[in-house]
Amino acid sequence: MSNKFQKTKRQALGKIRRFFLIKLKKPYFEQQMEERQGECNQCGNCCELLFKCPFLVKVEGGSSLCSIYENRPKQCAAFPIDNRCLSEVDFDCSYTFGKKQDIVQIESASIMHQAD
Ligand code: SF4
Ligand code: SF4
Repeated sequence: MSNKFQKTKRQALGKIRRFFLIKLKKPYFEQQMEERQGECNQCGNCCELLFKCPFLVKVEGGSSLCSIYENRPKQCAAFPIDNRCLSEVDFDCSYTFGKKQDIVQIESASIMHQAD
């Protein structure tokens, strides 16, 4: 399989994974938010996962703005939750995590089970 396909697959699973981490793995999510370090540099990389978000506005100088910032989905503010999220943008993000994190694996079977 091509690298591009692998990356697309990783990003698609990443969106699903974040949704379930926020909804169903609250202790892990909250712990990760506490351990997240840094500030968003408004590069917009996480707003172009899989597709360019229609609310993303590119501004001069290379940074980006969210045109619905105050009302953006929780998943947007939650990026990145951990190093696995960072891998989706090839670690091109100004947030870091202080220590090596265990990556929570959510297999599709598990997702389906908990969604029932
Ligand atoms: S990739 Fe990271 S630094 Fe860039 S906009 Fe998203 S959260 Fe901010
Ligand atoms: S809604 Fe805003 S923060 Fe969320 S992906 Fe779109 S531009 Fe980015």
